[in-house]
Amino acid sequence: MADAAVLRDVGVLVVGDRVARVGPPDELERTRPDAKRIDCGRGVLIPGLVDSHTHAVFGRPRYEEQEMRAAGVPYMEIAKRGGGIHASVRDVRQRGLDDLADLAEVRLRQLASYGTTTVEVKSGYGLTLEEELKLLRAIARVAERVPMRVIPTWLGAHEIPVEHRQRGDGGASYVKTLVNEMLPAVTSQRLARFADVFCEPGVFTLDQARTILSASRRAGLALKLHADELEPSGGAELAADVGATSADHLAAISDAGIAALAASDTVATLLPGTMLFLGRPRQAPARALIEAGAAVALATDFNPGTSPTVNFPLILTLGVSQLHMSASEAIVAATVNGAAALGLADHVGQIAPGFSADLALFDCEDIRELPYWYGDRRCRGTWVRGETCHPSSAPIS
Ligand SMILES: [Zn+2]
Repeated sequence: MADAAVLRDVGVLVVGDRVARVGPPDELERTRPDAKRIDCGRGVLIPGLVDSHTHAVFGRPRYEEQEMRAAGVPYMEIAKRGGGIHASVRDVRQRGLDDLADLAEVRLRQLASYGTTTVEVKSGYGLTLEEELKLLRAIARVAERVPMRVIPTWLGAHEIPVEHRQRGDGGASYVKTLVNEMLPAVTSQRLARFADVFCEPGVFTLDQARTILSASRRAGLALKLHADELEPSGGAELAADVGATSADHLAAISDAGIAALAASDTVATLLPGTMLFLGRPRQAPARALIEAGAAVALATDFNPGTSPTVNFPLILTLGVSQLHMSASEAIVAATVNGAAALGLADHVGQIAPGFSADLALFDCEDIRELPYWYGDRRCRGTWVRGETCHPSSAPIS
């Protein structure tokens, strides 16, 4: 991760949807004199950013909670006043699929405008069979409309819905609904590539998460886990043990959790924007994870409650200034390792022969400027599978 393998004064030859060669521009032009030429104007060209953790399909934003939080109102009280995840659930349940897909399309195009070409999108604001299917279908619909690569994740286990909480069985009846009703419908309709669970005290326990993840694996889904965000509860260890593709959040991961991830193929996906937005002082121990040998990814966690940002380069800034990563580490975390967190690392996340021609061009002279100009939108254009994704103003000849 310490070496992003930056090359200078090179061109990228794209044939079809793949990178064919990287080398001196005049040499590439001699091989393919007929090729369309895009002048990157001495900017920085990176693999398109891979945002491996978002909740980008939702209805209304939840701006009113930010002031409450700033005034010290605890989450449970915000929830009691009608806020929190349940507010998004009520809102989503009142909306039609078309409405949700329209809203998501605008948001995904905003993500692309900051350099993202691959985005994972979770369901999780429906929490009934019908409503979760509606969200997953909205994700499928928007995936057809935007040029980006969209990876759908079923997060029926985002929260225990109010109607099940009232039963006072600790979510047991809802876990049965998830495994026996929702999961078979999601897999038979091929609506998701991953299953994810919010494993945290007060939401889903370790045992419940293991039950849902094991059933999902048997049904053919790859696995993710929201783990150890607020308390060290063994989530990272569980993710490693069940062979999850990624364990996400990890601000409260234990030393045993770090060791478990380092010894596994499970990617540690860190979401520093969430902690920043919530005003929490504790960030995930990125350095300890990297030094232990874990693969660390960065993502936006774009969602209406705890991380309403589409600005992935800003997350790179936080990776450096809050997580103490180098610029190279942050960029590898947002490309190569982001692709690994989605099981795509064999063809996405690198500018190398055979890889998908997913590219993002930035108005910078040095790769270290990506995290440096914080909050800025320096992305001049993106391409995915060789096609324009976000408008590029680069001259074509
Ligand atoms: Zn999340």
